[in-house]
Amino acid sequence: MDYDVDVAIVGGGLSGISAAIIAAKNGLSVIVLERGEYSGSKNVSGGRMYIHSLKRLMGNKFKDAPLELPIKKETFEIYNKGRKTTFSFENKEKEDSYSILRSKFDRWLASEAENNGVTISYSTLVTNVRRENGIMVVESNRGDIRTPLVIESDGAASFVSRYMGLSKLDMNYKMENIKNISKNDNFIPKNFMLGIKEIIDKKPENEMGEAKTVLGLSGDIKGGGFVYTNKDSYSIGLTLKIDSIETNDIKSYDIMEDYREKLGIDGKILEYSAHLIPFYKYDYLPKRYDDNLIVTGDAAGFLLNDGFTIRGMDLAIESGMIAGNAAKKIIDSKDYSDTYIYEKMLEDSFVLKDLKTASRISSLFGNERTFNVYPSMISNLIDTMFTVTDNPRKNIKYALMDEIKNNNISYFTVINDLLKVI
Ligand SMILES: Cc1cc2nc3c(=O)[nH]c(=O)nc-3n(C[C@H](O)[C@H](O)[C@H](O)COP(=O)(O)OP(=O)(O)OC[C@H]3O[C@@H](n4cnc5c(N)ncnc54)[C@H](O)[C@@H]3O)c2cc1C
Repeated sequence: MDYDVDVAIVGGGLSGISAAIIAAKNGLSVIVLERGEYSGSKNVSGGRMYIHSLKRLMGNKFKDAPLELPIKKETFEIYNKGRKTTFSFENKEKEDSYSILRSKFDRWLASEAENNGVTISYSTLVTNVRRENGIMVVESNRGDIRTPLVIESDGAASFVSRYMGLSKLDMNYKMENIKNISKNDNFIPKNFMLGIKEIIDKKPENEMGEAKTVLGLSGDIKGGGFVYTNKDSYSIGLTLKIDSIETNDIKSYDIMEDYREKLGIDGKILEYSAHLIPFYKYDYLPKRYDDNLIVTGDAAGFLLNDGFTIRGMDLAIESGMIAGNAAKKIIDSKDYSDTYIYEKMLEDSFVLKDLKTASRISSLFGNERTFNVYPSMISNLIDTMFTVTDNPRKNIKYALMDEIKNNNISYFTVINDLLKVI
């Protein structure tokens, strides 16, 4: 069987480049097809990367990575009707995550891939992928490439999966979990969030990196905000449930402007971007392997939000690395339909395990109570604790019971929500 390259990778973001580095190190010929002018030009993240996978990917070269600040301070801010509740935690020893700027970072990672023998074709838009005589033909504005294996790393919009009909029910599925198959037609608004981000030209006062999670500044829209400090700038943004924007007349840039003003972070806006974020429940994650095809990163729905950590970048790097190793086994076996091997390797990794663990708490982010009711309850309770009037003071327990009653929710619901957090 004649083909041009062992592996064609669609998308030169974190997952695609990581897959390419490992596949090339494994001796495979690899091409990455990236629609942007350079890696990082089309990529958006809030900007905090947990670095454990990157360290393993880069080995000694890790020290050259263009990281911003190590995040040593975590802050939660809850806004409600002119009130603000803040919780903070600091650990000066912590170095497990860094703020990063994707345009710098992805560009560096891509140049490292090229140093390892990977060919990256920029300004190359993949327009279709089809199966022909047991191999894949990847069509792009720069011509066709024939390959036995495609690694799909094209992000949340997952064009390749859709070209290949992975969301349709009539495919020859090998997946053991039948539940996923019947619910697999899932490219729908409720499975996505809109991420909006700005980089503000303002030097943080502190060299110690800080990550803020912000609740209560997106009006009636379900969602939350983030602030990360970089060496010379702030990254600020919102992640909003798309199904709640659909039913709302407010424009996303107006929400962003309001958010920035309320945060009080002023300065020149150096960069504005908006991007889809996958938000699948664990049991409804899209299928991530098929004959001649394996799917990584956001394209596979690998985004984890457990309320404390938002992780897509380390999952993208890790799933890319696993794909690079699976590719070696698939190409060596010459059975290009035996891609289930990738699924098995994912199951053994932290990627699927952490996504599963986070799935209970993630379900809270689909509900109204998280974004409106609980922030208001917390603000009311704290307000009560610090208010003195002529009226007799209410015991905090009774104040809490009144809050629950006034919000028309049952004790069972509150306890059930709480249990999802712990
Ligand atoms: C606002 C926001 C905040 C976030 N905050 C964080 C955070 O703080 N921490 C964290 O870990 N994660 C965060 N994430 C998630 C994180 O950004 C993603 O999980 C990560 O970028 C996924 O990497 P990827 O390589 O799978 O996809 P991407 O980075 O999206 O890369 C996909 C690549 O494919 C290319 N491509 C797409 N279609 C085609 C095509 N047809 N032809 C050729 N090329 C194509 C694109 O140009 C792009 O370069 C955030 C996301 C957003 C939007």
